[in-house]
Amino acid sequence: MVDNIKKLVIANRGEIALRILRACRQLGISTVALHSEADREAKYVRLADESVCIGPASAAESYLNIASVIAAAEITDAQAIHPGYGFLSENPDFAERVEQSGFTFVGPKAETIRIMGDKISAISAMKAAGVPCVPGSDGPIPDDPEKILAIGRKIGFPLMIKATGGGGGKGMRVARSESELLANVEMTKKEAAAAFGNDVIYMERFLEKPRHIEFQVLVDTHGNAVHLGDRDCSMQRRHQKVIEEAPAPGLTDAQRQEIGNRCAEACRKIGYRGAGTFEFLYEDGEFFFIEMNTRIQVEHPVTEMITGIDLLQEQIRVADGGKLQFEQKDIQFSGHSIECRLNAEDPDTFMPSPGRITQYHMAGGPGVRVDSHVYSHYFVPPYYDSMIGKVITYGMNRQEALVRMNGALQEMVIEGIKTNLPLHLRLIRDPNFAKGECDIHYLETQYGMS
Ligand code: ADP
Repeated sequence: MVDNIKKLVIANRGEIALRILRACRQLGISTVALHSEADREAKYVRLADESVCIGPASAAESYLNIASVIAAAEITDAQAIHPGYGFLSENPDFAERVEQSGFTFVGPKAETIRIMGDKISAISAMKAAGVPCVPGSDGPIPDDPEKILAIGRKIGFPLMIKATGGGGGKGMRVARSESELLANVEMTKKEAAAAFGNDVIYMERFLEKPRHIEFQVLVDTHGNAVHLGDRDCSMQRRHQKVIEEAPAPGLTDAQRQEIGNRCAEACRKIGYRGAGTFEFLYEDGEFFFIEMNTRIQVEHPVTEMITGIDLLQEQIRVADGGKLQFEQKDIQFSGHSIECRLNAEDPDTFMPSPGRITQYHMAGGPGVRVDSHVYSHYFVPPYYDSMIGKVITYGMNRQEALVRMNGALQEMVIEGIKTNLPLHLRLIRDPNFAKGECDIHYLETQYGMS
């Protein structure tokens, strides 16, 4: 139960809308589902206490329409707005408007989102707070070609040129040698200006074979910050995560505590609040911060499985002004959890495959969790992200989590549309993946998934 929030607006769609709804029910909060015209039939819309249609199918006119979202909260007399992930979740102007309109934003302050949304300011805030970062230009690079070359030589080659306003894997380019540096800087600048309206760029060391390891944090408004351990999300295609797991294979407890505590400490220093994720590249035993996500993430369930903590409930509780119910010493990590993202897409070409699901049977049994909003005869709309759910397994150890995932994926039946289930089955049975510790290029180099 929470003290202040009686009614909450779910400003998102798909599986995360259902996940937020479930957390609210357990906290005794009534829910308002916002939906576009294309999502009228969604399960969470039917399950919510109230629903409001906020516009046509196009996300720009519905889920991204700040005025409509706020108007929906006003007419339903809600106290809080949960942005989920994607859409408006990391838009500082939205967070600001929500709070200015007198609602609780389930997330950090707008100012924090703004700092973390700009890669250069995020890196400098993290450096100041004692978080290890990738060695680089320490700020924007100047215009003078000679100075750019000098910075490049100091960092060493290969290096990565990045747009400070970049996101979604865009606005990044590698320079393998001094001879291609200036031309690549120019190209990145142009692209960044066109894509993000901001041509400020910086440079950092390019890591050849890193793993993607991230740390979950939870922070209240009473000065308490904890970390909930790490996740390995190295199985990626085009910088999009495909499989995630917790804990990261091969990491020692001492490493986990050291980096985790630094993240929690950084949160106290920057006045963070809510749930957040510190993303790192990990290579040769060293961690390098790349960015912070100021929202709940798709892969949060694997952390819930190994800690027994409901991250959504805690996120809403701290947004309500509540104190964290545990300290760092109370958080125990037990067992292992893996998540496979199910996409409505062709498993070979990755082309989206929207349409009507004719048959749907979900997996079950010990240690199996399926977070999905779909059902038999559900129509997967073509307008949004192709993810239709997540299969999550838990085991006493990684081996058991893998065996359970193999079984769960075989049990899942989704007919009428194409899904990436066959690809997940192959990956889960891949002997290299089974060994653990694959780097972020594994899917691209071994499966041609580029
Ligand atoms: P975005 O905000 O676009 O997701 P990130 O900074 O999080 O950008 O980087 C996305 C991905 O790009 C990382 O997960 C990693 O695969 C790759 N990457 C980023 N920085 C580096 C680097 N310095 N060296 C090697 N790979 C990198």
